[in-house]
Amino acid sequence: MNAKVYLVGAGPGDSGLLTLRGYEVLKRSDVVIYDRLVNDSILAMIPEHAIMIDAGKSSGNHTLTQRDIESLMIEHAREGRVVVRLKGGDPFMFGRGGEEAESLMKAGIDFEVVPGVTSAISVPAYAGIPVTHRDYCSGINIYTAHDKNNLIPELTNTASIFLMGVSNSHALQEKLLCSLSPDTPCAVIERGTTSMQRVIHTRLDSLHDSVMTNHIEPPAVIITGNIADMNLNWRSHLPLRDKRIIITRPESRAEELSRMLRDEGAEVISMPTIKTSVIHHALDGINLSGYDWVGFTSVTGVNAFFELLCESRKDIRELGHAKIAAIGNATRDSLHAHGLNVDYIPDVFDGVHLAEGLSKMGGRILMFRASEGTKEINNIFMKYGIAFTEVCIYRTDYVKLKHVPKFADIIIFTSASTVRGFTHNIDTMRDVIAVCIGSQTAEEARREGFTRIRIAEGASVIKLFEAVMSLA
Ligand code: SAH
Repeated sequence: MNAKVYLVGAGPGDSGLLTLRGYEVLKRSDVVIYDRLVNDSILAMIPEHAIMIDAGKSSGNHTLTQRDIESLMIEHAREGRVVVRLKGGDPFMFGRGGEEAESLMKAGIDFEVVPGVTSAISVPAYAGIPVTHRDYCSGINIYTAHDKNNLIPELTNTASIFLMGVSNSHALQEKLLCSLSPDTPCAVIERGTTSMQRVIHTRLDSLHDSVMTNHIEPPAVIITGNIADMNLNWRSHLPLRDKRIIITRPESRAEELSRMLRDEGAEVISMPTIKTSVIHHALDGINLSGYDWVGFTSVTGVNAFFELLCESRKDIRELGHAKIAAIGNATRDSLHAHGLNVDYIPDVFDGVHLAEGLSKMGGRILMFRASEGTKEINNIFMKYGIAFTEVCIYRTDYVKLKHVPKFADIIIFTSASTVRGFTHNIDTMRDVIAVCIGSQTAEEARREGFTRIRIAEGASVIKLFEAVMSLA
């Protein structure tokens, strides 16, 4: 990708509302300069190598001035980096995106604008308010509540949408009362599209009171006009709508679970704490024939095995008539997809039970494993005096997390190494509920200081999902 600046809209919060183009450029960025409103779930997508710069402009507490931000973008782009300027909602909707584009143009820097889903329209939508509807409203106006030009809406059949209105709600109410009736419907939506979303329906003459008594904090969207009474609420029955869930397993293996949780309304932060890589040439010089059993302990192991088989120009037929053992259903399915049927799966899906089972079958055993897999498997084979060969074909490393979310309701751990990868990076959140696959993972979570632990009743995505649903 060429060095240039991408002005990217991150959407209102829900990571599903980031555009495909936004995701694509973010994944290829070298530098990301982001605003305070950008959701943790989107910051967690920033690649490991990228430089992250918090432009963190909270009102009255500017960490970087607008001019600093503009010079940083220009400097990094001139040094040949792919710069993403990541802004909440849409970059050109009250985000100074226009000013930033102007300064890039003046400096002769190439840039691209990646529009985002603006909070002005999407946040009402998540609260069940369509911003136009033939029966209630024939147009919309979008205002900043800090309006320099003193424009005020005059018609209730026009929806007016105000951004940045929380700190200004009193003045806003007074101004609107000059032209609108006191009983004009209003809705206030705080942290829309996230697990913290709150919606308040009120009347114009109680707008400020409602903001105060409900302790509404920014960011919030205020909408006035007849349309604000609508409540096509499609979210309130979703069982996980108020849950923020961190998934720690590598992204390629987290997709299905993320989707299932999002379908139930959850805010999901995909935050892999480990990454796996194949150990190149691990199969070179290894004789695959002459074994009675060949065992696989994970889907990652199966994928690594076939990659290495290809790398070392070996042929699967070298395995001959060896029987195949897999740790659980997911590993079995992955072997099956490669044309290998599985002859044995233990009742309990873990390494110890796999080794116990194989020991009872006897014969010569070949195991393909992770380099840091539990030594308990070896101990069991030794206990039964079983001859076995172990080949380590992939390794697991901790990811260096660039961004740590401030809070969550649930963290999902799918292996002991995902727990260690988390605690390696983060020393808070031990009071968050940890949903763990299997007793070894739960044991590790306990050792690392988690106190509220739930164990999924089986090592599958469905069982993990059910364990989370039981917390709804
Ligand atoms: N460019 C942004 C707006 C930036 S101004 C966009 O297109 O959405 C910041 C204001 O946006 C906040 O004060 C608030 O009024 C609104 N806002 C942004 N995200 C929001 C959210 N998740 N829920 C409610 N309001 C939000």
